[in-house]
Amino acid sequence: MIYLDNAATTPLRPGVLEAMLPFLSENFFNPSSVYAPARKVRAAVDDARGIVASAIGAKPDEIFFTSGGTESNNWAIKGALNGEKKHIVTTAIEHHAVLFVCKHLEKCGFEVTYLPVDGEGFANPADLEAAIRPDTALVSIILANNEVGTIQPIQQFAEITARHGVTLHTDAVQAVGHFATDVNELEVQMLSISAHKFGGPKGVGALFVKKGTPLFSLLQGGAQERNRRAGTENVAGIIGMGAALSAAIEEMPAEFPRVTALRDRLTREILDKIPHTRLNGARENRLPGNVNISFRFIEGESLLLHLDMQNICASTGSACSSGALEPSHVLMALGLDHEQANGALRFSLGAQNTDEEIDELMKILSPAVKKLRALSPLYDDYLKTSGGAGF
Ligand SMILES: *Cc1c(COP(=O)(O)O)cnc(C)c1O
Repeated sequence: MIYLDNAATTPLRPGVLEAMLPFLSENFFNPSSVYAPARKVRAAVDDARGIVASAIGAKPDEIFFTSGGTESNNWAIKGALNGEKKHIVTTAIEHHAVLFVCKHLEKCGFEVTYLPVDGEGFANPADLEAAIRPDTALVSIILANNEVGTIQPIQQFAEITARHGVTLHTDAVQAVGHFATDVNELEVQMLSISAHKFGGPKGVGALFVKKGTPLFSLLQGGAQERNRRAGTENVAGIIGMGAALSAAIEEMPAEFPRVTALRDRLTREILDKIPHTRLNGARENRLPGNVNISFRFIEGESLLLHLDMQNICASTGSACSSGALEPSHVLMALGLDHEQANGALRFSLGAQNTDEEIDELMKILSPAVKKLRALSPLYDDYLKTSGGAGF
């Protein structure tokens, strides 16, 4: 099996499961209890907090553990609203865990401005400047896009929000553990993290909240997380997140260039060897593992199923679990037409991928594309009108 869907989730890094297991067995204690064995569990949770904080240049008391990226995004956005200011600014290419929160808030009487992006997926600071109003409560801009890999120049947005005194949140779920991500350089007030995108377990994440940032709690109940996020901690998950992130940070100096080179090689081979293909997303400032390609004349979904039969896991990026082929909102925002958007496939590379796997993929991909095009009425039309030149 060749797994090329690391933007969806990643396998646990070596050592992470072993670090977690004691907290699912002999160290089962509630970290809020007062006796000695529970205090040891509390200490382990706080060690993990220290790892997460230092990974992003934050202080430990600015890190709040959550159930993952979705909760962190929900909390950052909903918690920033105090009922007075009714306007939110975000972008057209957010993950659904931001986009659908904003859509929901629109139904609750809030107004949302969705910043457009250019052909590579970059939002424009001038558009943010123009969008901010006296009643803007929050700006939320994704740091690295999960579909097309574009990394936003967050500092430029931060300069604008700071000048207007508006809180800036960023969804950094695809960034943390993959490239250097520092809250002091980004100058954001809130930042979302998810463990399972960098070799940690699913169902655990964190929200960085800069000291002094006003934020209501999303979950009320016990006094966990310094009274900000109620609920008994996912101890084993938190320990796993700490172990995975510390490994990801340690390996980053070697892994970043290695995965970037794999990405560039795969991109080049597809564009060179398979005609009528285009790279979607940023040329520069792109996630190290993201390759998003539109294959003309075919459905990404059909190609995906073809690869699946050969034990290759990839993604279309478009959420079409319902069976209805809705083109991706991200690709549409980049200006692709329906055919290009529906013909897109995302390969997301990670720590376990190798050059041999790219060789293997290319052996399977070229004939699969050829086969599907041979069945494609669109391709047939193209050949008739273009005089037969082509693939
Ligand atoms: C995966 C992902 C999320 C959701 O995180 P979960 O931990 O799966 O809830 C949010 N934003 C981005 C950019 C993601 O890639």
